[in-house]
Amino acid sequence: MVTVYKIRSILCYTIKVEQSSIYDVIIVGAGASGLICALECARAGKRVLVLERAPFPGRKILVSGNGRCNFTNLHAVPDCYHADPELIKAALTAFSPKDCLAYFDRLGILYVQEGNGRMFPATGKATAVTDAFKAALAETNAEVLCNTEVIRIKRGKTFLVSTKDASFQSRKLVLACGSCAYPQVSGTQKGYELAQSLGHHIITPRPALSGLCLKENFSRLSGIRFQVRLTAATTPAAQAEGEIIFTAYGINGPAALNISSQVSRALPQGNIPLFINFLPQIENTTDFLQNRLHQFAHRKPKDFFAGLLHESLANLLIDFKGLRKNKPMAEQSPAVLTSALNALEKWPATITALRPWNEAMAATGGVNVREINYNTFESNLCQGLYITGELLDVDGKSGGFNLQFAWASGITAAQHIKEQ
Ligand SMILES: Cc1cc2nc3c(=O)[nH]c(=O)nc-3n(C[C@H](O)[C@H](O)[C@H](O)COP(=O)(O)OP(=O)(O)OC[C@H]3O[C@@H](n4cnc5c(N)ncnc54)[C@H](O)[C@@H]3O)c2cc1C
Repeated sequence: MVTVYKIRSILCYTIKVEQSSIYDVIIVGAGASGLICALECARAGKRVLVLERAPFPGRKILVSGNGRCNFTNLHAVPDCYHADPELIKAALTAFSPKDCLAYFDRLGILYVQEGNGRMFPATGKATAVTDAFKAALAETNAEVLCNTEVIRIKRGKTFLVSTKDASFQSRKLVLACGSCAYPQVSGTQKGYELAQSLGHHIITPRPALSGLCLKENFSRLSGIRFQVRLTAATTPAAQAEGEIIFTAYGINGPAALNISSQVSRALPQGNIPLFINFLPQIENTTDFLQNRLHQFAHRKPKDFFAGLLHESLANLLIDFKGLRKNKPMAEQSPAVLTSALNALEKWPATITALRPWNEAMAATGGVNVREINYNTFESNLCQGLYITGELLDVDGKSGGFNLQFAWASGITAAQHIKEQ
């Protein structure tokens, strides 16, 4: 016979009291989606137990946005996600970025807007978010147990949830375990295993929001930032415009991160050609460069590119394409000249890999979303089970979209649980 313990906790402090009782809902994971779900269920008077394997709640929230937590994005639309657009539409309708701001207002979090709709706590620290959730949860009867990993779940009349030391029972169960990205913080495969044990199927998780390794050596540009447009030859083509930074292995930065999910899914089929447009702000590059050639035909290559390109890029281009350094542009071989100028719009490179899991800010892949109800996040396969956040096959671009989805899915699941 299984012994069920009631564990009273003030967040991480626990006192075991033997008692046979059934929770209304057990939430596995005190990350973004688990915390908001727990708070809403507890505020509605549900008896809630949150089990978290890390020593404290919200570990990934704390490292998000470089420790500043870019907690939502006002421009969130389905296009910002790699997921079924119908699911994202439902989630953003149920809990939009504006709803998120109103919710954070009520939690007492002051926030500021930065470029491209990105929202951050005004304190400049992610602790503003985790502390506000902890304070709000402490005002409810929710029990939060840290250092407590769920290793097994059995579905009988109730859910029987086992850790190494104890077992708990509940009527509803929320899997809010997150993805396996960033294992040094809280990323784990465990959520996938638990979902599978309850009948769900997993789309192979792959790193996303991670740097791109290139075959070519760009070490001469290492550490330099460029505004570019990237086009990767996936099907359909993955495109992003914005900043990149060259590194020892290839490229990182928002534009690289924003094509990484699509690239990650295509890489098992082989290396992927990448084209870098170093002049994305110019509409017709050919006309622009031809005009410049007329204007500065007398200039040697280095002076021709002065004011247009970063010096290191100009030097690389001159060497890479074999422009003759001491000859004016008018006297360069036409074929070499054309090839050099074309390279500015379509610099060829080859993506060989993504940076590994410990550098990936998200996972693409996860629980197949076709197996959940888009309006409630309840499993279609196992009644009473809810799956939220990044454990699902949903990943967003860089800019606050992933946390927006985590909040939206967690609160939507809570709304449904509250109605039962
Ligand atoms: C470095 C970094 C920076 C990021 N920056 C941003 C950003 O600025 N904006 C943004 O929108 N997104 C950002 N993200 C992504 C964002 O943090 C995640 O998408 C979001 O936290 C997912 O929420 P979640 O609730 O699904 O999972 P998580 O927040 O990962 O929470 C899951 C929790 O479940 C726990 N858990 C897992 N398995 C078990 C188990 N078996 N038993 C008990 N507990 C378990 C984990 O320990 C974890 O605490 C960033 C991610 C990283 C790694």
